[in-house]
Amino acid sequence: MYLAKSDFIRSLSCKSSMWFSKYQPEKLSPLSESDSGRIEQGNLFESLVRSRFPEGVLVDGYSDKAAEETQNAIDQNADCLFQATAIAKRCLAKADILERVKDSDSWNLFEVKSSTRVKAEHILDAAFQTWVFEQSGFRISQIYLILVDNTYQLQGEIDISKISKIEEITNKVRDQYDRLESDIKSALDVLTNPSPPEVSQYPCGLKPDQCQSGFHCYPELPVENIFTIPRINFNRARELYNGGVVSIHDYEEITQLSPTQKGYVEAVQSGKPQIDCDAIQLFLDRLEYPLSFLDYESASPAVPAYTGYRPYSQVVFQYSLHVIREPGSHLEHYEYLDSGDRDPALDLSRSLRKNLPSSGSVLVWNESFEKTRNREMGEHLPEYHDFYERLNDRVIDLMRIVSEGHYLDPGFLGRSSIKSVLPVLVPQMSYNNLEINNGGLASLRWLELLNETNSQKAAQIRQHLLEYCKLDTLAMVELFHVFTAIACKDNF
Ligand code: SF4
Repeated sequence: MYLAKSDFIRSLSCKSSMWFSKYQPEKLSPLSESDSGRIEQGNLFESLVRSRFPEGVLVDGYSDKAAEETQNAIDQNADCLFQATAIAKRCLAKADILERVKDSDSWNLFEVKSSTRVKAEHILDAAFQTWVFEQSGFRISQIYLILVDNTYQLQGEIDISKISKIEEITNKVRDQYDRLESDIKSALDVLTNPSPPEVSQYPCGLKPDQCQSGFHCYPELPVENIFTIPRINFNRARELYNGGVVSIHDYEEITQLSPTQKGYVEAVQSGKPQIDCDAIQLFLDRLEYPLSFLDYESASPAVPAYTGYRPYSQVVFQYSLHVIREPGSHLEHYEYLDSGDRDPALDLSRSLRKNLPSSGSVLVWNESFEKTRNREMGEHLPEYHDFYERLNDRVIDLMRIVSEGHYLDPGFLGRSSIKSVLPVLVPQMSYNNLEINNGGLASLRWLELLNETNSQKAAQIRQHLLEYCKLDTLAMVELFHVFTAIACKDNF
């Protein structure tokens, strides 16, 4: 088993995590949708960058086979290779781009990153690659990173020389050499060990659900554990954990908590929701009919698809809107999903302006997302600037009832996302049966849709996107009814 670059980088932040990824990958919790999206964006950017090197030859395969193919390509006078592979001292490196220095036996090494700036991790990553190539006999001259230039604004066709920027990092990489060998050696020591490293008392700053191999450091963690206390300080939680306070049911120092944290702990310990009916009523009193329940879906591709956008600009491609004109009136539904042919901003804005009531409250779940998108769309389309400004003035965040602690249920597990709240308060509704069941996946699927040539598959993705976004606003409507019923009940 070789130590690959990704293993080495993983080992620098956590050796246990590296060990599990090599020996028991099936135990790791799945990557988040946003991490998967980042990887896909990175792959897309890398394939685009390759067009800067028209002579490049792609090396197929992995491991020893790829190293052999690399040598074959060089023997056949290839001067530029994509995914050239080198193996030395039980380490394996695949260089994104390896280009021969003209008329010499030296090579320049390029690593492609879909990031917009150089990070310390990129230097270590390139240092590992360079070291393995040099150990296997290559002479490496200069080392470069190719990054996304987010000052680029798309006008017509993509200009690859402008959307990507090349930064030389040779000296920074060489500066890492002193510590590199010992870091590689300690990663290899872990790799050859048949069991995972011991858990340290203070492993890292990640909470159990933030790490793919969190099960190692937090074995047999009960569902209602102290890490679920909203916004609890990690060090404090870890201290309690080390002291044997693992379940919220064992937690006694309740006076040291903020009101929301305290409410959650009391809810868990009593097994009953903590509800502040007056605060909920006060919140609901601010609402003005007609009530509009609005939700957007957006994507932020590394490579912009439309004129006027920059790398990673957010593109709102879909909305769902439910409207209640007056108390007791029937529920209306409106929606828009971009066809992918052109910039969705204008058609989406037209549709929204037509369907959104011109007065009343606009309810969203987690206002910072929708408000920021509104501001951006107002800047992107000056003729809609005032529309989005006025819309933002009417936005009310329904999530506050939960995040500000007016309704705390043990079943929320300290979270206030709509996906955590809905199944507890409206159990007959669920995201579980949907093909697309979170925003990250919606964004990924829409990006896929842009290049989908199979019309049947495209229609299916569209259908799944519509179902998902519609459920988001319908969920808000149902939660609004739940909160209203609770507030009213208390007043009688
Ligand atoms: S939680 Fe444990 S396994 Fe995960 S990164 Fe931290 S120390 Fe490593």
